[in-house]
Amino acid sequence: MRILHWFRSDLRLADNTALYHAARDATRGVIAVYMPAPAEWKAHDLSPVQVDLRLRSLAVVARDLSAKNIPLRILPSKSPRDVARLLLNLARELEVDAIYFNTEYEIDESRRDEDVFAAFTKAGLKVKSFVDQSMLDPTSISTGSGTYFTVFTPFKNAWLKRLAIHQTTAPINLLPAPPRQSPLQINSDPVPASINGFESHISAAKRTSLWPAGEHAAHALLTTFIRSSASSYKNQRDIPSLRGTSQLSPALATGTISPKQCFLAAAEANKGKFDGGNEGLQTWISEHIWREFYMHVTTGFPRVCMNRAFKVATDRIKWSYNEKHFEAWKQGRTGYPIVDAAMRQLNTTGWMHNRLRMVAAMFLTKDLFIDWRWGERYFMQNLVDGFFPSNNGGWQWSASTGTDAAPYFRILSPLSQSQRFDADGDFIRAFVPELSSLSSDEIHDPAPLTRARLNYPPQIVDHAAARVHAIAAFKALTP
Ligand code: FAD
Repeated sequence: MRILHWFRSDLRLADNTALYHAARDATRGVIAVYMPAPAEWKAHDLSPVQVDLRLRSLAVVARDLSAKNIPLRILPSKSPRDVARLLLNLARELEVDAIYFNTEYEIDESRRDEDVFAAFTKAGLKVKSFVDQSMLDPTSISTGSGTYFTVFTPFKNAWLKRLAIHQTTAPINLLPAPPRQSPLQINSDPVPASINGFESHISAAKRTSLWPAGEHAAHALLTTFIRSSASSYKNQRDIPSLRGTSQLSPALATGTISPKQCFLAAAEANKGKFDGGNEGLQTWISEHIWREFYMHVTTGFPRVCMNRAFKVATDRIKWSYNEKHFEAWKQGRTGYPIVDAAMRQLNTTGWMHNRLRMVAAMFLTKDLFIDWRWGERYFMQNLVDGFFPSNNGGWQWSASTGTDAAPYFRILSPLSQSQRFDADGDFIRAFVPELSSLSSDEIHDPAPLTRARLNYPPQIVDHAAARVHAIAAFKALTP
């Protein structure tokens, strides 16, 4: 059997479930294919900085495949509707018997894959898909009554329980990269260095140094994090001026590392425990379970993939669509230094610290009362780690429209968050340089005259008044 492995958001050779099975099942060789899909990427608001990371990581994949005599074909698609036909033509040209890939769970991706299943099956070819984007199959966890979870803690408990059962019957292990195969008389295509329409405003040198590409770099990052920072994660993860988190999210979004590699590395450092043990490691594992939770929500409640709120009643909220406010938020000119520093971190690096994602998202949705979908979209368009389930989950959490969301009356105060998590103002100084001369006391909320002198804007909204308005709007939803 000759098998086509379709690379998507799994840009690595090691511990790649579909690729591992393809190499195991193939008797006439494995061939790999990657489909740049600019139209689909635009429709999903994929950021140029992530497209760049994907292409650079694909170049690493191409190099590693070549060392194993596995050809890589590049097959651009103009529309998701073309995908099945293009793949089938390629399958016929290469005389393959089957196509293998790792499952993606968002609704458009699921529909695209259903078309591939139908087209290949009709043509008498095999199709196999595998769980790989999450540690456990997101559809395999359910409540006692067989429904999807909507609250994190019971989900986490069920997830841990399922993992424990799984481990006793079929222990979860890392899968090796495919072995070197006999050469096939099939040429590889060159990996494009860029894709039209996805030009990043972040310089190539900066992108490369901030976001190293490929699985070897991702693995090195994981190893360093586990060795040097994971045990202090619980205490340092909320301080944006420190490098207290792993910054593995771009690797997870592009698949240069697998969730399983992360979970198993953390558990190994934690004496084999997924729960309990070292507090830092335990907390880090729990954050990864949040990622699994949001994938579970995405599969269980497809309305969240269709621009709808998880809490249906909150779709009645009359959000603001004030362009001037939105522009100030995007540019980091709201007059709230911590919010502005956060937005400028996003704009200049393609990444934002988790604490600040919550602060910035809550500011947009509660202080400016702007529709969370505008913010969700802006994040996707700019994040190097844009990943629909986590981004949608994070936005709906902040907007109080989602699963296990922040209660609408618990609104983060940008000033208290700033004083608490950036007490010395170091993070603000790094990203809002016009305020860098200010003392730690003044930097969180400069006096009006200081703002004018430093060309820093006044606050575009009064937090106390905005809070009252947001709470009233949510309260009005309850009969
Ligand atoms: P670490 O703290 O080292 O955590 C390890 C991993 O756990 C992360 O890489 C991530 O995969 C997962 N994780 C951590 N926190 C969360 C969380 N709250 N929800 C889900 N998974 C989590 N994460 C994305 O990967 N892509 C997004 O597009 C995204 N958008 C977000 C938008 C908002 C409004 C919010 C509040 C959060 C968003 N997150 C997103 C979650 C979180 O902010 C990032 O995963 C985290 O900041 C990535 O940094 P890290 O790799 O250093 O994380």
